[in-house]
Amino acid sequence: MKRVGIFGGTFNPIHYGHLIAAQTVGVALKLEETVFVPCAHPPHKTERELAPAEDRLAMIRLAIKRNPFFAVSDYEIRKGGKSYSIDTAKYFQALYPSKTKFFFIVGADAAECLPTWKDVGQLIKMVTFVAVNRPGYKSLVDHSVKYKSMEIPGMEISSSFIRHSLHMGKSIRYLTHEKVVDYIYQKKLYKT
Ligand code: ATP
Ligand code: MG
Repeated sequence: MKRVGIFGGTFNPIHYGHLIAAQTVGVALKLEETVFVPCAHPPHKTERELAPAEDRLAMIRLAIKRNPFFAVSDYEIRKGGKSYSIDTAKYFQALYPSKTKFFFIVGADAAECLPTWKDVGQLIKMVTFVAVNRPGYKSLVDHSVKYKSMEIPGMEISSSFIRHSLHMGKSIRYLTHEKVVDYIYQKKLYKT
């Protein structure tokens, strides 16, 4: 039975918190593949500073290039509009062999919001949620929506911190993959 991780997010930009989460979960659960799925427009937030989808996609590609277990899907971006995980789950179910087991990776902050996700009752029957700890957010406690908790090395990095650092003219080196750092400076993303 194929085991596939799905990691949704804004990835604005992708950083080492995302990469450590995907790597730790992938190894622990013996996932054959983990697919990063950047959203077109985040349903939970109004993002004033959202980099173009092509740039967020390009940065994910740069960051995961050397990991054969990582992949990226432009499904939500191609679809456009608001992205809901239930639609993405249906898409991947149709795309992969029928026996495939899907694991949806979420950080502690996203795990807390699970009860508000569209059609989560249906979604939980299609995928297993895997929630990882995240510094600065409540520790993982059981909620109405069941998930598997997984301890990962705590990474106090966020995309907002990276964007904020850029605004302040501070270095973002070592917060994300060096190819992503170079890309942000070259393309003057986040008004660098
Ligand atoms: P922003 O600050 O813009 O919200 P972010 O760093 O939270 O960005 P997202 O793209 O919003 O990144 O997050 C995508 C997914 O990755 C979410 O499930 C989130 O909880 C998780 N995640 C992001 N950063 C970390 C981290 N440092 N540790 C664990 N999980 C994380
Ligand atoms: Mg976030």
